[in-house]
Amino acid sequence: MEKYDAIVIGAGAAGLFCAAMAGQAGRRILLIDNGKKAGRKILMSGGGRCNFTNLYIEPAAYLSQNRHFCKSALARYTQWDFIVMVGKHGIAWHEKTLGQLFCDDSAQQIVDMLLAECEKGQVTLRLRSEVLEVTRDETGYTLQLNGDTVSTPNLVIASGGLSMPGLGATPFGYKIAEQFGLKVLPTRAGLVPFTLHKPLLEQLQTLSGVSVPSVITAEDGTVFRENLLFTHRGLSGPAVLQISSYWQPGEFVSINLVPDCDLESFLDAQRAEHPNQSLKNTLAMQLPKRLVECLQLLGQIPDVSLKQLNSRDQQALVETLSAWRVQPNGTEGYRTAEVTLGGVDTHELSSRTMEARNVPGLFFIGEVMDVTGWLGGYNFQWAWASAWACAEALAAP
Ligand code: FAD
Repeated sequence: MEKYDAIVIGAGAAGLFCAAMAGQAGRRILLIDNGKKAGRKILMSGGGRCNFTNLYIEPAAYLSQNRHFCKSALARYTQWDFIVMVGKHGIAWHEKTLGQLFCDDSAQQIVDMLLAECEKGQVTLRLRSEVLEVTRDETGYTLQLNGDTVSTPNLVIASGGLSMPGLGATPFGYKIAEQFGLKVLPTRAGLVPFTLHKPLLEQLQTLSGVSVPSVITAEDGTVFRENLLFTHRGLSGPAVLQISSYWQPGEFVSINLVPDCDLESFLDAQRAEHPNQSLKNTLAMQLPKRLVECLQLLGQIPDVSLKQLNSRDQQALVETLSAWRVQPNGTEGYRTAEVTLGGVDTHELSSRTMEARNVPGLFFIGEVMDVTGWLGGYNFQWAWASAWACAEALAAP
């Protein structure tokens, strides 16, 4: 039976980084993944360019039942540390928007970097490997793999969440947590498009592909200012993905479709100068034409000239466009979600080492635990930071 100082399950963002750092500290590491390739989500991320971190990382950008948990790890391994590593590997990057850093070339560079760091740490990587059983005794953990038995005093679970089962997501981490008596908080899809009830969806069909700047507000008061995209299934775009993590079934969201315009003053000014101009053409100066046409067909925009628009209708119109209340039918679920909310309860873990408080040698890192970031590089930074905290603990004498 082969013995390792630590066995890491899941060769995704957190697992690769943790294995590399602990390996480079002299630990003998086995890294296991059920897939054919390491870092499959990294390859898909950021439209193939991997939004690997964000310039404005802060604990407030993370959702968790235990809001303080992420602070220590994020402070000890920061976005600047990861940027230095990316620089050392000669990976060119750029800021796209809102502090989001992307590779100039391809997400493959991040995976290659992590694999090179693993090689430097002499990490043994086993792909296409299933963990059939995990048992624990006083010496540590024994894992039955397909065709092999391995053992270790330190088991690191980096198997991620449930989003995108097509990329290898499994509930493995939650099952291990439960097997060893840790609480797992209910999970749900996050950073995910909204679906709409049929009548509204049918009414908005012609808008598929239209994108508008927006300010979107959840019932708990959370607000994001980003683009909204109409799709053939409902609503998407960064604004919707962000707010989806704060939305609960049955709730409404409020959407300002004209966030950069004081519509009331704009209409008054236009009316003073061009009283005969149609309301439709006037609004098309602020909104995509297809959206204006659709809202007119739905009876939300009266077919009148500006001088014919009475103050009651103007007020209703301003209300519709600046605080459009939508009740999503649901979300597209794990199939398209970028992350999984909930997971292993962080109250069960040390925020310094990521080790289970009551199960020595059992660690959880990355998305498997109840820490979920905003869209924009926050989730990868959590993977790097939690992995680093764990690797530091594994490297300690
Ligand atoms: P993962 O990266 O999901 O890795 C888990 C690994 O465990 C996988 O390789 C999986 O194959 C393996 N595994 C699972 N079950 C088992 C098992 N039973 N046995 C063995 N191995 C197993 N975040 C950002 O910050 N920026 C982005 O640009 C971004 N883009 C994204 C795009 C998409 C399409 C998706 C789905 C997510 C994106 N995210 C992004 C989120 C980010 O990818 C995740 O938060 C991050 O990968 C989590 O890292 P992790 O190591 O915890 O899990």
